Amino acid sequence: MSTVLESSAGGAADPAEAAFVYRDGGLQAEQVPLARIAEAVGTPCYVYAGGAMQATYRALASALGAVGLPTTICYAVKANPHVAVIRGFAALGAGADVVSEGELRRALAAGVPPERIVFAGVGKTEAEMAFALETGILQFNAESIDELKVLDAVAGRLGRTAPVALRVNPDVDARTHAKIATGKAGNKFGIDIDQMPATLALLRDLKNLRLDGLAVHIGSQLVHAEPYEAAFARLAELAREVLAGGWRLRHLDLGGGMGIPYGPARDGRSAALPLDAYVAAVKRTVGSLGLPLVFEPGRYLVGNAGLLLARVLYVKQGRSKRFVILDAAMNDLIRPTLYDAWHEIVPVAEPAPGAALEPVDVVGPICESGDIFAHDRLLPPVAPGDLIAILSTGAYGATMSSTYNSRLPAPEVMVRGGDSAVIKARPDHAAMIAQDRLPAWLEESGRTR
Ligand SMILES: *Cc1c(COP(=O)(O)O)cnc(C)c1O
Repeated sequence: MSTVLESSAGGAADPAEAAFVYRDGGLQAEQVPLARIAEAVGTPCYVYAGGAMQATYRALASALGAVGLPTTICYAVKANPHVAVIRGFAALGAGADVVSEGELRRALAAGVPPERIVFAGVGKTEAEMAFALETGILQFNAESIDELKVLDAVAGRLGRTAPVALRVNPDVDARTHAKIATGKAGNKFGIDIDQMPATLALLRDLKNLRLDGLAVHIGSQLVHAEPYEAAFARLAELAREVLAGGWRLRHLDLGGGMGIPYGPARDGRSAALPLDAYVAAVKRTVGSLGLPLVFEPGRYLVGNAGLLLARVLYVKQGRSKRFVILDAAMNDLIRPTLYDAWHEIVPVAEPAPGAALEPVDVVGPICESGDIFAHDRLLPPVAPGDLIAILSTGAYGATMSSTYNSRLPAPEVMVRGGDSAVIKARPDHAAMIAQDRLPAWLEESGRTR
């Protein structure tokens, strides 16, 4: 028995690492053979280790407990918005971080109490604000002065007071991929820290808003504690100024972004956020303020507890390269294309010890050269019909998928221990085509004059 993802650098052991293990010659999700899942639902499909997700949540909650302050973990729904995933965390006391009415409704459907839901995002509509106000959420993380004015007006119309946290842009380099860095001046997120005095002055006039907190979220897949420390230090300084100005704060929201290992140590891809250093940074910076804390982890809780299961369709020897063509594609998993993301890829049948590795490009069937999961990846020999697992795809996998090339959305399966359940079925082609409506002038005959 061997775990697929080897031990990560620093911090506590990652419970998600034990989620997918070779046993009896085949890769299993917790105690369920992936071959059996592929037989039951077909490929491609997403498989989530529900037990590992919950274990990761517990481990994070316990690590954050060391800060010594009351803490709410608001799971960032956008990482994996399946109601079953949210419910698994809600059952352990989690709140939710949502960025749209759709996500808010999912969190509520999963049983997250409204008073543990924070609503983030730079572009909330009036309708979304109204729905969230009626729901009675914990707070709106406001990202601009105009948003505050609109929220005040909506709250006034509904006769309600909107609880607000100001999301600050601390101008910190998160040292992550440019497309997921959010805390540098010049990113669209948050209110620039030097606009805070003007924002606070405005807040005194907006009678339907109540300032409850300050928030930062500087990016995603952060593997260094230092940018966090810099951002939290600025937040703490700002909080002291705000308190000195006579405001009362109920909590500080430190955002999410905790990075996970995307591969085994031998490839140098194992960099993950050292959680102990992160916790120490929290303590050093905001600890002495004594305010309750909110955290918004998404990827950290689900990323390594999911995989994309696919089948090899063809192995093609080109002039200079060997291509392994899968039945999964960039529409199922866009991260390699969008973020140049590196995902560990392993055969489901356990390779013989010492099996020779050969470099291959692992690609999908879509008519785009960008439809590629891995370049020059060293894999043991694979043949058409073999099952392949693309690891660490529990976050920003299914949720970012599309139906490009009219490919059907991949089904989703959750396991816990020896149990498994199809939590999203593959729709059929007829249902997908039935979503298209013809305008009256094309309905009659299908012919045009
Ligand atoms: C995306 C996002 C998160 C979660 O990010 P992860 O990297 O998945 O932890 C948290 N808070 C806000 C405001 C976000 O936009």
